[in-house]
Amino acid sequence: MTVRDLIDRALRHAALALGGKADVVARGPGRVNLIGEHTDYNSGLALPFAIGQATVVAVRERTDDLVIVSSDQFNEPVRLRLDQIRPGQVPGWAAYPLGALWGLLGAGVPRDRWRGFEASFVSDVPSGAGLSSSAAIECALLVALDHLWGLGLDSAALAAAGQRGENDVAGAPTGVLDQTAVLNGRREHAVLVDARSGDVELVPLRLACAGLVLAVVDTGVSHAHSTGGYAARRASCERAAAQLGMESLRELGVEDLAAASAQLGAEDARRVRHVVGENARVLETVNALGVGDLDRMGGLMTASHVSLRDDFEVSCSELDLAVEASLAAGALGARMTGGGFGGSAIALVREADLEAVETAVRSAFDRRGFGPPRVFSVQPEDGAAVVIPADSR
Ligand code: ADP
Ligand code: MG
Repeated sequence: MTVRDLIDRALRHAALALGGKADVVARGPGRVNLIGEHTDYNSGLALPFAIGQATVVAVRERTDDLVIVSSDQFNEPVRLRLDQIRPGQVPGWAAYPLGALWGLLGAGVPRDRWRGFEASFVSDVPSGAGLSSSAAIECALLVALDHLWGLGLDSAALAAAGQRGENDVAGAPTGVLDQTAVLNGRREHAVLVDARSGDVELVPLRLACAGLVLAVVDTGVSHAHSTGGYAARRASCERAAAQLGMESLRELGVEDLAAASAQLGAEDARRVRHVVGENARVLETVNALGVGDLDRMGGLMTASHVSLRDDFEVSCSELDLAVEASLAAGALGARMTGGGFGGSAIALVREADLEAVETAVRSAFDRRGFGPPRVFSVQPEDGAAVVIPADSR
């Protein structure tokens, strides 16, 4: 769906859901992570990009202290008073956008600057597919409120607000990578994120010029970060860093792995080997992109998958099959993307091979008795922004 189509859909939905015309409309895209998985909460490196699929929010101010949020994916709107927005109080999906609002407290936006509003969301980001529909909905609302309330927050402050909400209100112990990608994305660029320094650097990524697409295979297996193994992996990394007397695993290089492993239990050592190797692969990918070596980039993606599967143990049969079938059908590289335990795999594919890859993945899933996957392609697009500002009313 084009941005224009999505905005039109948002305005139609808003006309029904809001008690009048929207004051501001903002777009928050989904993201894919090219490489650098389970590194963000280890102060590491990642290379995501924002995609064309997005959540669009239309916001209308209210004169009282009510907040009403509605989504085209859910029938019933959620209504709360502003003073009810806090951990433990926000039900269901609304915990994501209203958690982000709560997260603004930590960005120095006290409750007395909050105003009642209605927000209606439409989205074509598949939810729970590893494309970060959660950061899309959070960041769409955050940039809309930043604009409406004249907050002037930078993308780091907005990203942190989204993360705080996701951690404390939605109860998902995720890092800040998704929000950072969603807020900083740029068309034809990937976003190199350094979670230790907070630095964000745009890296040119002209897939279309190279005749390539990034295919996404949504396995349809839904993950649940708040309950699944994500928290256990995170705890394992934190335990290993503490045992090694380090603030984070970022302090380790590939050359330190043998000595570090000797001090750790076998399982933690494998988790650490993934994180350290993955940081190195992100830098190698940036170098490969710099010299236009897309075959090398594909190889690094596949190496990342092997490490996530064998050392970090966050893959699943469907993700492994999507990767194997894509590679067998000619993909330059493939890996699971996102937190794992389901969600999506990505494959770097020549445009001419896209159909063959899709057919191969579909028939492989069919043969194994897995439900049909959703396959689509993504390109790097612009990050979250206001698309219809308040002064254009
Ligand atoms: P992912 O971010 O990989 O898509 P998450 O589990 O982190 O998966 O977030 C998905 C959740 O975010 C959904 O279950 C829902 O609660 C919420 N969400 C995301 N997008 C929307 C939307 N457009 N409308 C309502 N809720 C949404
Ligand atoms: Mg998410």
